[in-house]
Amino acid sequence: MSASPLMRVEDAIDRLLTMAEAQWIEDSEAVPLEAARQRVLANDLLATLDLPPWPNSAMDGYALNVEGWDGAPLAVSQQVFAGQAPEALAPGTCARIFTGAPVPPGADCVEMQENTQVLDDGRIRFKQPLSAGSNIRPQGQENRVGDVLLRAGKRLGPFELAVAAAQGCTHVQVVRRPRVALLSTGDELVEPGNPLRPGSIYNSNRTLLSHWLNALGCEVIDAGILPDEPRQTRLKLEQLQRTADLMLSTGGVSAGDADCLGQVLRECGKPLLWKLSIKPGKPLTVGHFGRVPVIGLPGNPTSALVTFGLLARAYLLRIQGVEDVEPLSFLVSVGFAWPKPGSRREYLRARLEGGRAVLYPNQSSGVLLGASWADGLVEVPEGCTLEMGDTARFIPFSELF
Ligand code: AMP
Ligand code: MG
Repeated sequence: MSASPLMRVEDAIDRLLTMAEAQWIEDSEAVPLEAARQRVLANDLLATLDLPPWPNSAMDGYALNVEGWDGAPLAVSQQVFAGQAPEALAPGTCARIFTGAPVPPGADCVEMQENTQVLDDGRIRFKQPLSAGSNIRPQGQENRVGDVLLRAGKRLGPFELAVAAAQGCTHVQVVRRPRVALLSTGDELVEPGNPLRPGSIYNSNRTLLSHWLNALGCEVIDAGILPDEPRQTRLKLEQLQRTADLMLSTGGVSAGDADCLGQVLRECGKPLLWKLSIKPGKPLTVGHFGRVPVIGLPGNPTSALVTFGLLARAYLLRIQGVEDVEPLSFLVSVGFAWPKPGSRREYLRARLEGGRAVLYPNQSSGVLLGASWADGLVEVPEGCTLEMGDTARFIPFSELF
């Protein structure tokens, strides 16, 4: 009897994205710019202002009209600082002007002060040939009223929020946060702050995932620790399905746990147990409890980290309407050899040193420290080997937040 083939990572992502598209979050809310970081724009952001609103100077210098100017020194007829409204330029004169100040009507050029000389009589001599338009930022060079500045589905970071501020917005309309019920399963787990019992360990996945969920714009419903026991698991899921958009758990999906989560989903929902072609992180349980999607990540901290970053993250962004959920990656040269081909695609914790990826010495899925040491993941495709200096795909961790 041959084992069923493992599902490829990209196929699992496709399935999750299809699931996500059936769960779009349609509600939105207006949020002040200060609180909108990491949120997703619900509607296109349209420009209500031309930027710049008027032609302004890119330099400290002198504004003049070069059309019809004979090259002779010019008297200074006005000074314009940023924030002031200038008068029309008096014919045959120039205006002292500073960066960001509106260019006086009638001027068509700004010369930087370094290329000028103030004569004894106060007139300005221009040392170099000038051309119309130079050092002027024209009205609307960045955008015009009515332009789409940011599309719905855009994740908002400092750049996007600054674009909104430049239009005078105090708030942006963003998709409601997905409410994610976060469960840790395992009889061995204890929360930090409590004494360890023999055989127990502290729960680190809850901290890992609650921060990560926040960074992806989600609201975390902390559902605590669940014992490896189907009845209590079922009761908990029943309670959480009333409020959660997604139930996300770690642990209890491998055969050794008697597959407690899978068992409950088989009884009360529709389980999709995927054996993924991924290392770390082979067992992934996906399904619905009632109408609420459930993603069960494996419990090993690094397995949880890799499967959350590569799979659950994409789901959570897509339910908020984010189109581009694939993390940026690039090819790097590897500073290590990988002589044994694996049957699963491997994601190795690696750091970039001198332009090459080097590995954390212990790649065990139980070792969390490697993730903190590393800059990201080197992907080794199924059946591949690597020699020192070969290239491999690298996914920076920063891309996964
Ligand atoms: P499981 O997927 O439940 O078989 O767990 C695999 C391994 O990960 C076991 O060694 C667990 O003790 C460990 N583990 C499971 N959940 C957590 C957690 N929340 N924090 C830290 N380690 C965990
Ligand atoms: Mg367990």
